[in-house]
Amino acid sequence: MKALSCPQEAVVTNSARTGCWDNSMKEHVKGCPYCREIVQAVEWMKRVSGVEEKYLPDAEQVWLNARMLAMQEAQERVVRPLAIALFAVKATLMLALLAGIIWIWFGFQSLAAHSIPNSSPVPQSVIAAGIALATSAAAFLFIKLFQPILIEE
Ligand SMILES: [Zn+2]
Repeated sequence: MKALSCPQEAVVTNSARTGCWDNSMKEHVKGCPYCREIVQAVEWMKRVSGVEEKYLPDAEQVWLNARMLAMQEAQERVVRPLAIALFAVKATLMLALLAGIIWIWFGFQSLAAHSIPNSSPVPQSVIAAGIALATSAAAFLFIKLFQPILIEE
């Protein structure tokens, strides 16, 4: 029949946790099934926790880490719909920006076609280049305005 407790339990547990054994404790563990189970349990816990250190981490620290991880996961679950909505808003904004640039391009083209007489002293190719430059400047301005909204950090 196995013993239900041992007076050396605390010393054996500490030795198993720290790995600092003296010869009398090693001999005691060989003869005490209760303490042998303690050593096996501590070694199992070391393997499961993946701790390579000599000392097991403090139980309170493990508890706090687990709570922080759970809170972080809960926070990510709550924020996920907002992140999706933010992505949709950004995509919509990008499409609106693209539509605005296209609209400006065609607006400048039709303005140039109707308001510039054929007998203009400036050649048509220079006017077309100016329109392209104005469109590019408008696109650059839009990008500079919306860049802080579209790109974070
Ligand atoms: Zn014992």
